[in-house]
Amino acid sequence: MTGAILRGLSGRCPNCGKGSLFRAYLKPVEACAACGEPLGHIRADDGPAWLSILVIGHVLVPIAIGVEYVAVWPMWMPMVLWPLVGLVATLWFLPRAKGAFVAILWATGAPGSETDEAI
Ligand SMILES: [Zn+2]
Repeated sequence: MTGAILRGLSGRCPNCGKGSLFRAYLKPVEACAACGEPLGHIRADDGPAWLSILVIGHVLVPIAIGVEYVAVWPMWMPMVLWPLVGLVATLWFLPRAKGAFVAILWATGAPGSETDEAI
């Protein structure tokens, strides 16, 4: 399962690691182009957003507090800097979080879909 999660984190197919997991920024492919594994039915729902908030918040807030403690700069600077850093960090982290969630759902065999066939 660790290998699948690492492949998901890198945006690759959790099964083979060769095909891409996404066809757009956060839109998963219907099936892996390399091995044909169906991936489009797996729904990560709010998990990636939750993980992004958790990780980025716990990394960025202590850094911001530490920098603000020693920095001497105009008031507008942190009001512009920290939201931009948070935005860029979140945009970088979100596809990795979604890849990890899809990989975990795939590796555990969780249905991850909203169809009635899994119930
Ligand atoms: Zn594959």
